[in-house]
Parts: sequence; C-alpha cells; structure tokens
Amino acid sequence: MQPFTYVGAPGRVVFGFGVLDRVPGEVAALGCRRALVLSTPQQAEAARALGERLGPLSAGVFSQAAMHTPVEVTERALQVVQGSGADCTVALGGGSTTGLGKAIALRTDLPQIVIPTTYAGSEATPILGETRDGLKTTQKSPKILPEVIVYDVDLTLTLPPALSAASGMNAIAHAVEGLYTQDANPITSLMAEEGVRALGAALPQIVRNPSDRDARSDALYGAWLCGVVLGSVGMALHHKLCHTLGGTFDLPHAETHTVVLPHAAAYNAPAAREAMARVARALGVADAPRGLYDLAESLSAPLSLKDIGMPQGGLDRAADLAVADPYWNPRPVERAAIRALLDDAYWGRRPAAT
Ligand code: NAD
Repeated sequence: MQPFTYVGAPGRVVFGFGVLDRVPGEVAALGCRRALVLSTPQQAEAARALGERLGPLSAGVFSQAAMHTPVEVTERALQVVQGSGADCTVALGGGSTTGLGKAIALRTDLPQIVIPTTYAGSEATPILGETRDGLKTTQKSPKILPEVIVYDVDLTLTLPPALSAASGMNAIAHAVEGLYTQDANPITSLMAEEGVRALGAALPQIVRNPSDRDARSDALYGAWLCGVVLGSVGMALHHKLCHTLGGTFDLPHAETHTVVLPHAAAYNAPAAREAMARVARALGVADAPRGLYDLAESLSAPLSLKDIGMPQGGLDRAADLAVADPYWNPRPVERAAIRALLDDAYWGRRPAAT
C-alpha cells in the first residue's frame, strides 16, 4: 500500500424513492425556519410545489438559476435572501441550481439542502465555478459544501435520455480522473470504481427505458459516489480541457465531458495503468478509453466536439490554453500531443487500443 492522505467531507445524505417528503424535517433538523427554494426557470413548477410542501418553513422560491453560475444571478438571489429573511436554501435541480445555492452559501454561510435531479455530482463537492463577464473562475471552500443532500430517485425519472446519458458520462469523468489524480487514495478509489460500475450498467438501461426505477436508483447512487470522489481528490487533464473548452467556446458542460473523456483517458493511459485497469474492470471491457467511447456511443451521446458546437478554427487556441497553467497530470501535458488529442475529439475518432 502506498502512503496516502484521506480527508472525509462532512455531510448528511438521505437517499431513496419519494424522500422529497423528508425535506421539511431536514430544514427543521438544521435548526432553520425559513428556506428559500432555488431552481432553474425550467424547474420552477417543481420548486413552487416544494415551496408549498414546506408550508410555513418556506421563504419563497427563486427560479432563475442558470448554467455556470453567473454572478449577476447570484446578486439578484442575495437580494431575495435578504428580503425574505431566509435562513437556509433548498436547491432543487442539476449542477446549475446547486451552483447558485453554493454561491449564496459562500457569501452568507447559510446552510444548504441540495436535491439533485441530474448526475452532475456538484452537491458532494466544496467546489464552485462562477462566471463574471463571461469569465469562469473556480474556487474551493468548506463553506461551499452543502450540509444535506436529499437524493429522491423519483425526481430523476423526468431527466430526458440524452441529458441522462451526458450527465452520467460527466459523473463517470469525475471518477476516472479521481483514480489517477495526484491525491488518489484507497477509499476514494473504491468509490470511483463502484461509481463507474453503477453508472456504466445503469445508463444503457435508462436510455432504453427512462422510467426504469432500479436503473435510475443505481445511476443516482453512482453519481453520488463520483461526486464524492471529485470533491475529495483533485482534477487533472480531462477537467482542465473541459473547463477550457466550456469557458472559451461556450460548449455544453456535460456533453463536453462526454466527448473529451475517452481521449483524455487514452492520453493518460500509459501513465495510469492501474487506474485504467480499474475503469476497464468496472465497465467489463478490455480497454478503458475504448470502453468509455463505446459506452457513450451505445447511449447515442455526442462523440465529437464538431457536433456540440466547437469551431474547428478554435482547436489551436484550445491547445494553447490547455497547456498554459495546466492542472497536475500523470503524463506531462505537451502541446503537440494535446493538439492531436483535440483533433481526435473534434472528429470523434475511436481511441486506439492502449
Ligand atoms: P443543469 O443543472 O444546467 O440542468 C440542465 C437542464 O436540465 C436545466 O434546464 C434543468 O432545469 C433541467 N433538469 C435538471 N434535472 C431535470 C430533471 N430531472 N428532469 C427534467 N429536467 C431537468 O445541468 P447539469 O449538467 O446538472 O449541471 C451543469 C452545471 O453544473 C455546470 O455549470 C457545471 O459547471 C456545474 N457542475 C459543478 C460541479 C462542481 O463540483 N462544482 C460538478 C459538476 C457540474
């Protein structure tokens, strides 16, 4: 066993079907009396219903959460927090809504309950990415980590198959990188492998039948594990590439992860043999990068940057940005090799066997 450091993040997790009805009890258990419910405009109806369920514990609903946590939205939400006398937030939705709750907590230290409805995993991390004037910055703080996560599997049944696939691949990416990152440790590696296994088995079933409750339950469990991994250990080349591509070319978050992951894994495979063996074992395949590509293909998820809005003329710039100020990575980050990786991802080529 190699020496390691493991830090467990505090947090309470309630998981099951129909556990949304536990939310009032969770608000009260935090010692709170007025919860502001957060959502995107698309999930405003569900947020309003949750507000009604909270009854006197509700401080109202703010349903303007947006992708990449724009600071101007957070500032509007802070005014509502102040005006309503809210003493906690309840974020109902995907990573965008969770991000808003985190941004409020960072500024006010209000406790957060998060009710995730995608597989993004943000609810389990002390990480917040925010955008100001189109520029995304990421920070880490214990204040950002939500106090309570309520995983109600029923809420994920409405996540459309295409979003389920991309969001699930986004979660798998957290685990794959967590297996080879600098601060990987035996506990998070167990979680990462189990997370990949659960999602790898559940996602094809969900795409075939989005109302498969057992598959939905397994996928949400896997997403939680992958989120914990992301929150506990660092990121590497894959996340750096996705942040660069998403931030500079405004590509969709989960789909960018889906396309880049097999190529980032192939790039790192020679320097991360054990991690790749674990990913391959979790997916039941011979070769991890190819297995990830084949999984995305079997889900009818996007396979090429070309198909998700990347301009071909931007590949050189993306390579320049990815090698400037890189995250730690098991294989040295070299411009020519990164440019080749981006070319493969742009055209959606199946990675060569590693
Ligand atoms: P999202 O939250 O933007 O959701 C996408 C859309 O799907 C939204 O319109 C949402 O309302 C809708 N939706 C969500 N759940 C649904 C459901 N069950 N049924 C029907 N519609 C539903 O997408 P996301 O991929 O979950 O989150 C992406 C954001 O999260 C990005 O900004 C990303 O940077 C961030 N993120 C942060 C971390 C972190 O640790 N800080 C981790 C992962 C993602």
